[in-house]
Amino acid sequence: MSQAPAQVVVVGSGFAGFFAARKLARILPRELAEVTMVSATDHMGYSPLLPEVAAGRLDPQRIAVPLHGSLGCSRILQGRVEDVDFESRKVRVACGEELSLPYDRLVLATGSVTREVATPGLSEYAFGLKTLAEGQFIHDHVLQQLQLADATTDPEVRRARLTFLVVGAGYTGTETAAQLQRMTQKQLSSFPRLSASDLRWLLVDLRPHVLPELGPRLGRYTLRLLRRRGMDIRLGTTVTAMRPGEVKLSDGTVLPCRTILWTAGVTPPPIVAQIGLPVRRGRLVVDEYLKLRDHVWAAGDSAAAIDPYDRDEMDYPPTAQHAQRQGMVIARNVAASLGVGTPTTYRHRDLGLVADLGGMRAVARPFGLPLTGLPAKVVTKGYHLVAIPYWANKLRVAADWLVNLVSRPTATQLGLVQKSAAQLRSEYSDELSRPAGATAMASAQIRPSRSPDTSISTTTRQASTQSQHSTQHADVDE
Ligand SMILES: Cc1cc2nc3c(=O)[nH]c(=O)nc-3n(C[C@H](O)[C@H](O)[C@H](O)COP(=O)(O)OP(=O)(O)OC[C@H]3O[C@@H](n4cnc5c(N)ncnc54)[C@H](O)[C@@H]3O)c2cc1C
Repeated sequence: MSQAPAQVVVVGSGFAGFFAARKLARILPRELAEVTMVSATDHMGYSPLLPEVAAGRLDPQRIAVPLHGSLGCSRILQGRVEDVDFESRKVRVACGEELSLPYDRLVLATGSVTREVATPGLSEYAFGLKTLAEGQFIHDHVLQQLQLADATTDPEVRRARLTFLVVGAGYTGTETAAQLQRMTQKQLSSFPRLSASDLRWLLVDLRPHVLPELGPRLGRYTLRLLRRRGMDIRLGTTVTAMRPGEVKLSDGTVLPCRTILWTAGVTPPPIVAQIGLPVRRGRLVVDEYLKLRDHVWAAGDSAAAIDPYDRDEMDYPPTAQHAQRQGMVIARNVAASLGVGTPTTYRHRDLGLVADLGGMRAVARPFGLPLTGLPAKVVTKGYHLVAIPYWANKLRVAADWLVNLVSRPTATQLGLVQKSAAQLRSEYSDELSRPAGATAMASAQIRPSRSPDTSISTTTRQASTQSQHSTQHADVDE
């Protein structure tokens, strides 16, 4: 009698999970193994292009890579993993009802969420930029500030509405500040009562450099460029308090401000601490095969693997290029554990990063070569087109970019995402646990997808993910 296929479960459809599941589905024969993807979203969000969504240069759907049709898995289950029982080899999944999903091999690729700190007012007044819903909300919110500033006759209110603060000058914060500042400048012609001098953009960071990930030379170039564009960049500075309509900086400045974007680092989601395995700076400690324990592997932002090329033996940084490659190494190692191929260690030298600064400006460091201006722009655009993992998404992104060359991006507020979806506190509850109907975008994602497989045992209990999400702080700089 033939043996039942092994159950391989991949948790998380970000870079690590997507590439792990896709490779597993390609290399494992169906009679040997069934691959199940369990993820809170039914798509892979290509986050490096989120700043362009916020700036209205890309439609959010362009960077949402559908799992159905692109992975080739046996099954895709949209749900939130709430717990893992390593002894009985089961994962507990909340997806409107509760499922207990057995596994023979498990891949944990749950990524990261925005890191919060104990700054008063942070969870009420700051917005994160890790999800498509947040990108879309920020776009609408910034446009709305222009509209409301144009409508008011009170100069104080106008000042507050036109002051935008970005906290964190890593690649996420710097790209977002640069692109949104350009968006607001370009939109001024639609608001005749506003002038360029009314707009006030600030970028603050406790560290002494902008874009430290790209090295001092490109950091200095970016600093000069953004200051020339009128951005107020304060290094060695952070936010000490946020109150309604007002923010206080560590240099003593008190600013009237209605928009605070918090991009000061990431941390693994609460499930990582909850499963009770060893962590380093909040990330699950894995060996060079990315193995966590028997039959379980972890990759991407959630996993801490020592970078053998780093002189200080630091962990690989939480970037897409590592997450993607780690996912593929895990696929090989899971397959090897099932008798297909041989296991391999993860070793990858950083290929460099890119940052799009809007207009014709970008900075890039491919293979250590510092580039600015047009060459950097071409490398940046080309890199994203190659990296986004589905032909239809590549074409749609390219089409939006082509249209942007001849037309100003459409400045419409769709209002599909509620404020609560972008506030930091809500990140711990993500799309699945938002109140039903809270947002059109969120409600599109809460549709539970039921597995046709009867081997999944089902107990009926409403998903109660909110309660599990107590705040957890671990530091992973972005
Ligand atoms: C704005 C922005 C710009 C960036 N730019 C770059 C760049 O230019 N270059 C670069 O290399 N990196 C960049 N990054 C970083 C990069 O996006 C991350 O390193 C990468 O996404 C990590 O991949 P991952 O698979 O580990 O996690 P993620 O992509 O975060 O995916 C995690 C997945 O797990 C799911 N999940 C989480 N918890 C659960 C659970 N309990 N149950 C079920 N599913 C769960 C999530 O829904 C998600 O699908 C950027 C990030 C941001 C936010």
